[in-house]
Amino acid sequence: MLSQVVELIESKRRFAITSHIRPDGDSLGSSLGLYWLLGALGKEAELIMRDPVPHAYQKLPGTEFVRVTPAVDREYDAVFVIECSDITRPGLIDLDKQLVVNIDHHSTTALFGDINWIDSTASAVGEMIYNLCKALGVRVTREIAECVYTALITDTGSFHYSNTSERTFKVASELVRAGVKPAKVSQAVFANYPWSKIELLGEVLTTLKRDSTGRVAWLAQTLDMQERAHASDEDGDGFVNYPMSCGDVEACAFFKETAPGVYRVSLRSKCDVNVARIAERFGGGGHRNAAGCTFEGTIEDAERQLVSLLLDAVENRGNGASGAANRQDVVVAAERKPAERDARP
Ligand code: 5GP
Ligand code: MN
Repeated sequence: MLSQVVELIESKRRFAITSHIRPDGDSLGSSLGLYWLLGALGKEAELIMRDPVPHAYQKLPGTEFVRVTPAVDREYDAVFVIECSDITRPGLIDLDKQLVVNIDHHSTTALFGDINWIDSTASAVGEMIYNLCKALGVRVTREIAECVYTALITDTGSFHYSNTSERTFKVASELVRAGVKPAKVSQAVFANYPWSKIELLGEVLTTLKRDSTGRVAWLAQTLDMQERAHASDEDGDGFVNYPMSCGDVEACAFFKETAPGVYRVSLRSKCDVNVARIAERFGGGGHRNAAGCTFEGTIEDAERQLVSLLLDAVENRGNGASGAANRQDVVVAAERKPAERDARP
């Protein structure tokens, strides 16, 4: 809990901070926010991540201090593990040999830390880092504010999602008071894409399908598409959100091929349709309305299994998935736009 984290920071000196593989806005913003916070207290802090900082977040203050490493290869008094559902999510060898502080806002998180501070009412871990500043009496500097603000806008979809609360706006308001320029941060995160991402999106959108009711949509990205667009691994991030902007669509899956026969699955839903429970069935996790997992097999299998479960969740809203993984009819019934680009060399 928070008081244990405060006590640990006050009594120890040398810390590392890490987060999950393929870091996103909340994991990076919160990790960097904590980095600046510890620095303000005169503590030694090192940011260690298995994966490099994605393009969208490279303008965050402090990204140059992120050390990319496959292992926890130095001694620390404690390692903060930010926004991770279990101890394997950071992808760091020997992490379990350290004193681990688990800081997260997922209600499904395993209590894998020596200290666990979980607040599932926080819209983002960034909100928790802000609270930690207050608890430690640290002034919210512009650096802390920009990092935490980035965490808030990415995890709340710019204050669109249901995790946005009065407290989120209160924290955001304090961050703006501390020097954040909302337009500048939004521009850096959401309007700074490389052209390869736009090209890739064009091709991925041609795979868009929906079930006969129009309530479930899905789309896919192959390694070939990525290569044709000269796209990076992160360029497909966020594509899952496009079908969600249709009023009829209540749940969506995005299948991104990351190696032959291996798909990263992103799931999104509206209201009380629970996609976290579906992701958990495949060893993943996340939140009710945004979750992810990895699927190994053919794209047809991935579609059949995941789309069936999404349909089930939409039909039995509130109950989560109750097990229609073997329904074969849904994909057959799907509408499919002709993929003109399939004909390209
Ligand atoms: P995304 O679709 O953007 O990759 O992930 C959406 C949400 O699901 C995020 O909150 C993320 O932390 C969670 N998530 C994505 N993939 C995984 C996974 O493999 N395991 C777990 N536990 N959570 C995941
Ligand atoms: Mn988060």
